[in-house]
Amino acid sequence: MSAPDEPLSAYRHKRDFARTPEPSGAREPSQALPIFVVQKHAASHLHYDFRLEVDGVLKSWAVPKGPSLAPHMRRLAVPTEDHPLAYANFEGVIPDGCYGAGTVMVWDTGTYESTTTQNRHPVSMTDALREGHVTFRLHGTKLRGEFALIHIHGARKDTWLLITMQDEDADPGHDPTLTQPNSVLTGRSLDEIIRASDG
Ligand code: MN
Repeated sequence: MSAPDEPLSAYRHKRDFARTPEPSGAREPSQALPIFVVQKHAASHLHYDFRLEVDGVLKSWAVPKGPSLAPHMRRLAVPTEDHPLAYANFEGVIPDGCYGAGTVMVWDTGTYESTTTQNRHPVSMTDALREGHVTFRLHGTKLRGEFALIHIHGARKDTWLLITMQDEDADPGHDPTLTQPNSVLTGRSLDEIIRASDG
């Protein structure tokens, strides 16, 4: 058993790597620029997993409706376990009976920069997440511009909001979950990912 403070212990505990094609992963050193990834996950309910690289792992939230480009839009974001960095390239089918069974697509990915400040001083992602208030600028293919993740105090469950900030990249008339539904890595639809795994 890994120590309870090992960031990936919850991730590994939930999975049988003899059965699932997901990466077992390792905590890896950061690249020059941290990455983000949004994975479309057709599990029991379709949702989008929003992940930010922090301290060598992917901090993760499940966003039922997916991210929005409409300024001031708030989307429910429920924290899930830290995922290994290698998960950012995972696209495939998690077999029935496994944790998170269903199809996973890399819907968007890119780099991000933290923009969180307090009293005009930059705040590290680690500290900002612990405080439950982080802002960042995404440099993706579908998602660009500034977003915030805010922990809702007093909520019954551990609940955050993913908020689209008002900036030049925000666009109330464009919903990329509808206009750009396919994989940013392979161009495949969910059905095409399923068919590829059947072979
Ligand atoms: Mn998921």
